[in-house]
Amino acid sequence: MAEGGAARRIEGGPIAAEIRTAVAEDVATFTATVGRPPGLAVVIIGRDAPSTVYLEQILRGCAKVGIEARFVELEGEATEAAVVARIRELNADPAVDGVIVQMPLPPTIRLRSVIDAIDPDKDIDGIHPLNAGLLRLGYDGFLPATAHAAVEILRRSGIEIAGRDAVVIGRSAVVGMPAAFLLLKEDATVTVCHSRTGDLAAHVARADIVVVAAGHPGLISGAMLKPGAVVVDVGINMVDGRLVGDVDFDSAAGVASAITPVPGGVGPLTNALLLTHLVRAAQRHVAADRISTTVG
Ligand code: NAP
Repeated sequence: MAEGGAARRIEGGPIAAEIRTAVAEDVATFTATVGRPPGLAVVIIGRDAPSTVYLEQILRGCAKVGIEARFVELEGEATEAAVVARIRELNADPAVDGVIVQMPLPPTIRLRSVIDAIDPDKDIDGIHPLNAGLLRLGYDGFLPATAHAAVEILRRSGIEIAGRDAVVIGRSAVVGMPAAFLLLKEDATVTVCHSRTGDLAAHVARADIVVVAAGHPGLISGAMLKPGAVVVDVGINMVDGRLVGDVDFDSAAGVASAITPVPGGVGPLTNALLLTHLVRAAQRHVAADRISTTVG
């Protein structure tokens, strides 16, 4: 990765390592107290799906901190009903605390059916409408891990968010919108831009914080930024066999005060935060079981 100008380079790796150390301690306490490790099920439909490599990374990350994680594999030709039925089995499995489903889904399976099937209490990547609604209302639900990472990397780097003008580029349900709501919760003034935004450059030029999640390499350059802006690049794109973000790093680093690189910025934090969500789900399940046992 080429170096840019004056900007502080915000590395996600060291922050992720700190998070994983804390998770490993929580997992050890949980396992000693409850008599089983926290459990994650990763539903994959077809082994050759492009996201399998990413999901294998999650499994390895779980193993390192003592979480019991496994693939639940369905054939690439599996029907929507079969996928939904498998998710419901996992919802009912007491050893499973969190469920994530490989995305994107095969075209024959409707996203909404899968999302609706996941128990919101096991929805550790925050895709169920209940968790999206909790975030919208400012309550604590499960957050989509990438959006969480995009804002957590700012918080853990000591970047002031309250009172700043933030522009989020991208309005997807899993990244852009939840990142915007999280920034709002942190008291930023937030503008959400998308592919139909009339004058993207004008919005970006006013922003103290720019979160870019468009999937469009080189969308943001240094010339577009307000001097001293903080840039969080969420984009992941393959260009000429190289992983790059949505921001032209070198020109942006010459103008910004801080910037996250790709790779090595938001990505590592995303995986680490997903582990914290899983542990929280496990702790909540045990607490809920205790209450139902007492009441019952
Ligand atoms: P998505 O569903 O394709 O959404 C992209 C968003 O960007 C849409 O809202 C789209 O606008 C907007 N957009 C596209 N081109 C634009 C342009 N030229 N100007 C302004 N807005 C534009 O993608 P996603 O799932 O949100 O992911 C966004 C990026 O984050 C991708 O590169 C993805 O690979 C990456 N990602 C990273 C991680 C990580 O851990 N770092 C995790 C997940 C995703 P419309 O709504 O108008 O179409």
